[in-house]
Amino acid sequence: MQKGVNELWNKCLMIIREDISEHNFNTWFTPIVPLKFSNNTLTLEVPSQFFYEWLEENYVSIFRKAIDLVIGKNGMLEYSVVIDKGDRKNPPIAFNLPTNHSNQNSYNSHSDKYSSNQPQAAKNPFQFKDLDSLELDSYLIPKYTFDKFIEGDCNRLGRAAGMAVSNKPGLTSFNPLMIYGGVGLGKTHLIQAIGNQIKDQFPEKFVLYVSTEKFTNQFVNAIRNNSIETFTNFYLQVDVLIIDDVQFLSGKEKTQETFFNIFNHLHQSGKQIILSSDRAPRDLAGMEDRLLSRFKWGLTADLQQPDFETRIAIIQKKLQDDGIQINIDVLEYLANSIQTNVRELEGVIISLMAQASLTRKEIDIELAKTTLKSIVNDQEKELSVDNILDVVTLHFDVDLQTLQGKCRKKENVFPRQVAMYMLKELTNLPLKSIGYHFGGRDHSTVIHAVQSISEAMETDKSVEKTVRNLFNRFNLSSN
Ligand code: ADP
Ligand code: MG
Repeated sequence: MQKGVNELWNKCLMIIREDISEHNFNTWFTPIVPLKFSNNTLTLEVPSQFFYEWLEENYVSIFRKAIDLVIGKNGMLEYSVVIDKGDRKNPPIAFNLPTNHSNQNSYNSHSDKYSSNQPQAAKNPFQFKDLDSLELDSYLIPKYTFDKFIEGDCNRLGRAAGMAVSNKPGLTSFNPLMIYGGVGLGKTHLIQAIGNQIKDQFPEKFVLYVSTEKFTNQFVNAIRNNSIETFTNFYLQVDVLIIDDVQFLSGKEKTQETFFNIFNHLHQSGKQIILSSDRAPRDLAGMEDRLLSRFKWGLTADLQQPDFETRIAIIQKKLQDDGIQINIDVLEYLANSIQTNVRELEGVIISLMAQASLTRKEIDIELAKTTLKSIVNDQEKELSVDNILDVVTLHFDVDLQTLQGKCRKKENVFPRQVAMYMLKELTNLPLKSIGYHFGGRDHSTVIHAVQSISEAMETDKSVEKTVRNLFNRFNLSSN
């Protein structure tokens, strides 16, 4: 029996593995223990309630695919959530939960969709026949609300404009409302929140969220199927049109032309249009001027990188939503280490929660550090704080503790100042955060270090050479 269930689960794992990243696989699937298989139901033991919820929210379709292929369409899944692992005397305590989506509709095999938080593009909006009689799908994700969108200097204008638009869609001068900003700074969250808020307040309005990619694909299909009119007519009935990532329209002339017509029509009829883009309209190349000028009709607001306090608030909110508390020093460590991208910050928090529930350990600095390393390494290995400190300690042969400590000996002060200088030049860390990595020194100490090294580099060729060499480890020059 046990052999059977293990074999079954191993087959599932092979299928699952193909569709998700190794990191996610190791975090979420390796810890699962297959318990039994009977009555077509596979029971899996998961380490905690949080784990269960996360799997349910993010990996339902991938489970479904594996189960369909390995067990068949009638296959079901059940989780056994461990509350207490027990010991030799006491048996473990667990409770069973069925999956919410046991035998739901089939899924599309967009492999990248499985683990993604992004809106899923599954249904075809052309299914509509009669607008009045049909529940139209808005493609809004309920968890993206204003309530969960932490306000900070970085997003105040966009958030406020979004609120205004939500209260009076189509009636403010913010039409279109264009939100732009870098990756992972909350564009999708904010424009979805606007959609959700409008749906809440004006249930009769037809709100539609669509990614530019999906819009383009639908358009291309419509051309292929000779159904451009259906396509356009569909969009003309929308009351609030939310289009995400319009930078992907660039270079697509025909799609732009159709979008231009839809835009004009909706705008003239007082319908609200909300757009997002990863760059400011003036930087959108490959976009027709007449379309660009439309984008500028309303309000353009950017989302910037969140400052320290906002990052702290974001982390706190995420943890609080899951009923988890962590020490202020771990909070500060996280907020000081991930600066540029809320999505990355969130990824680390989620991984941390998983690790903590898995090992039943407290979330402490050590755990935070290891988790951070395993995630951030993938992308910006060279520029992580730890790597910069590594290079400096190795070069000057000081240990990390001394480098970060208070010892005033010249042979320690110099490497410390070089490290501060490098952090200042190579990362976007504010001075305060740099000081944090050196035993909580204040920003004036960091300024002093940066000035000393800059001056030394100007007056002393050997210092300049040393610093340049260190910079070269990161494949960069010092300015
Ligand atoms: P973008 O579309 O700009 O790439 P997203 O909207 O997908 O970014 O945001 C990435 C993640 O960060 C999302 O999970 C989102 O909920 C979260 N996030 C971004 N900004 C905030 C914020 N101000 N408050 C709370 N969560 C945020
Ligand atoms: Mg987005």
